Amino acid sequence: MSLSVNRYWTLADKPVPAWPAAETFELREGPIPAPGPGQALTRTIYVSLDPYQWGYKRRGVEPKGAPCHARTVSQVVESHIDGLEAGDFVFNTNGWAAYGLMGDGIARPAYMVPRKLDPARGKLSHAVGVLGMLGLTAYAGMILQCDPQPGDTVVVSAASGGVGQIAGQLARLKGARVVGIAGKSEKCRFVTEDLGFDACVSHLSPTFADDLKAACPAGVDVYFENVGGAVFEAVLPLFNPGARMTICGLIAHYGDAADANAGAAEKAAAEARGVRVQNLFVGDYVESHHDAFLADMAPWVAEGKVRYLEDIREGLETVPAAFAEMLKGGNFGKMLVRVGDDPTLRA
Ligand code: NDP
Repeated sequence: MSLSVNRYWTLADKPVPAWPAAETFELREGPIPAPGPGQALTRTIYVSLDPYQWGYKRRGVEPKGAPCHARTVSQVVESHIDGLEAGDFVFNTNGWAAYGLMGDGIARPAYMVPRKLDPARGKLSHAVGVLGMLGLTAYAGMILQCDPQPGDTVVVSAASGGVGQIAGQLARLKGARVVGIAGKSEKCRFVTEDLGFDACVSHLSPTFADDLKAACPAGVDVYFENVGGAVFEAVLPLFNPGARMTICGLIAHYGDAADANAGAAEKAAAEARGVRVQNLFVGDYVESHHDAFLADMAPWVAEGKVRYLEDIREGLETVPAAFAEMLKGGNFGKMLVRVGDDPTLRA
């Protein structure tokens, strides 16, 4: 491969299936873009793989032929942007690509706007995780929306994943009793032994609903929903009067038809039991709470009060398989792919 060649994954030119497979994506080559005035060329270090990216593809948000969207951590190669120099690290959205431009003029929601990173603030990869959009999601949903109190029983689904592991630990910091729901037994062990949740039950068990009931003898006061579907149905009968539920995500529905009104059934069923249900969109909290979130979360992570597991795969070639695995529980921790050298790991 020549050094002047960019490589990127794009959606293959065929109907988008309910869930991705190897043939859903195509690896393409093209010229490395040349930065113009007000632009910077960046090389991608970490590609963040997130469930919402599948929703983009199912709903046809991404133009066919363009690099698949993703939040990234990158290093500046050449800059024509004031205040940004070659060698600087940035959060940006290069997508599933080895290189990309900053300053492309595309309007983005606040949590996607490119920014310079301070490597002294924490690991570079954390900028797309616990110290970035995922951390703010957990913080907004758990602390701001659900407001867990000492003595509350809090349930978190997808508990070992990127958002879930943080959300549960935040509820523990607030003095609540926290019960996780996860898949394989090693994930459940990690959630209790490493993250300090009080219990964790597997939704893969044939006795899942009974196991959850036994783990919540005082009922459920707060439910942080990442999954929906059958997992939600096991939580539903356990809600206490005055319970709160945040719908953070509904990954079980992300393969539904594009016009499915995902989440409406869960919301209506919980409200019928008197639960206060709030939808969560992290973008609503960026302007108002990002700085307060970072001031809390950065020291919590540095001091080990919030632990954070990443599942980092290697190489641009692995991106589609890693993405498909993550949607079906194959990740163990927040899923990322390292597609370029991270020089801070040698420091
Ligand atoms: P995760 O790291 O949690 O990965 C997804 C996990 O979901 C899998 O590992 C698997 O865990 C679990 N899962 C997948 N399918 C099912 C199923 N059918 N039933 C039960 N569990 C399932 O991803 P993230 O932390 O990145 O995202 C978690 C949620 O947060 C997603 O719904 C996402 O869309 C949402 N989100 C919402 C935001 C907002 O603004 N509201 C912002 C960011 C994320 P296991 O093996 O344990 O089953």
